[in-house]
Amino acid sequence: MTQKLMDAEQALALVREHSPAPVAETCRVDEAAGRILHADAASPETLPPFDNSAMDGFALGGGAEPVAAGTELAIEGEQAAGSLAARGGSGAFEIMTGARMPDGLDRVIPVENTERLDNPPRVRLNSDVARHQNVRHAGTDVRKGQAVLAAGTQLEPRHIMLAAALGMAQLPVAARPRVAAISTGRELVDDPGQALVSGQIRNSNGPYLAAGVPQAGAELVHQATVGDNADAFIAEVKHAREAGAQLLVSTGAVSMGRYDFIPQAVEQLGGEILFHKLAIRPGMPMLFARLGEGTLFFGLPGNPASAAMGMRFFVEPAIRHMLGLPPERPWRVPLKADYVQKRRMRYHLKARLGLQADGRLAVEVLPGQQSYRIRPLADANAWVVTPPDTTALAAGALVDVYGHSHLQPPYPEVEIA
Ligand code: AMP
Ligand code: MG
Repeated sequence: MTQKLMDAEQALALVREHSPAPVAETCRVDEAAGRILHADAASPETLPPFDNSAMDGFALGGGAEPVAAGTELAIEGEQAAGSLAARGGSGAFEIMTGARMPDGLDRVIPVENTERLDNPPRVRLNSDVARHQNVRHAGTDVRKGQAVLAAGTQLEPRHIMLAAALGMAQLPVAARPRVAAISTGRELVDDPGQALVSGQIRNSNGPYLAAGVPQAGAELVHQATVGDNADAFIAEVKHAREAGAQLLVSTGAVSMGRYDFIPQAVEQLGGEILFHKLAIRPGMPMLFARLGEGTLFFGLPGNPASAAMGMRFFVEPAIRHMLGLPPERPWRVPLKADYVQKRRMRYHLKARLGLQADGRLAVEVLPGQQSYRIRPLADANAWVVTPPDTTALAAGALVDVYGHSHLQPPYPEVEIA
């Protein structure tokens, strides 16, 4: 009798349950792009900090009624951006955009609606000017103490602009989870300058993880390649821990082959296997373990598409949890064409999200889903995840779509017919 494999949902619940809670650290605002805000932030200042002019023109005062076109006013002074406070009187002040309104004045007429007259220097209004017209009032953008940035925000340049405008020097962010990546396989060659000899292949999973870990909001603290040898692997686990790794990710050696030593190495390390083999494609032999001292271990299968799937759908959720982010929600996008799968199982498919000629989104499942195939993975800008209770989906059916990294929404960059 074959044992029923654990499903992805159950496996993900275990991943989240065992992933540590986020740790806060402070980060300078000018270094915060890409970081995840750890706590809600309130404004320490008012924005704009003072009433100022929205136009180049003339500031004047008056009552509730507009000052009428044709009025002539003496020019009493000038306010440029950066000028200190000034006191207005019964005349007008020449004023520039962003300049502080003279105290007592409450409206601005744009320069193009005026005429400048001499002897004595004065200005004639060519249009009515209502109270508050062309004045940007203090605090109309942000009030002091107002909540401005929510915990969990991935800080982008637009957030940095706001934080900088409000004089926020430091922001509380989630510490980057520390990750180590270990490639296994005696067939692997790391040096791209080295010619391959019989039976060798180039290590592509190692560079994939090294590039993907920072993109996922984590920090790569150790990287190594080992042969099919538990002792060499265990030595690298030790190095990874010394480098402060909280998550260890390996590729290869988790299936049923004679040299698939990872389960045994986890045992030798005194670790607890939380799952091994899932009801998913690709990547069925995925392994997840707790190694003690708080280190978590993901044993991803070695086939490149399986390793990519494992990183995207199991390691990234752990990183997300450690960054304080909630579980991801997929986009629901119509399939471009009919789709059939062999088993009633959750498939993670190389896919292309694009715009149709009419601008509507659609997703295309790419040919070349075999787990050894890298080329279609490079063509894919998204993943389709299929429901496990069906084998056929019709064109137009809505399916779950995920981008290539949890911090980047899938971007429909291509037109698909
Ligand atoms: P394994 O999971 O170790 O049985 O490996 C499955 C397949 O993936 C084999 O064809 C390996 O040669 C290949 N493979 C394993 N590790 C890597 C790697 N780091 N880069 C590219 N291919 C790999
Ligand atoms: Mg192997």
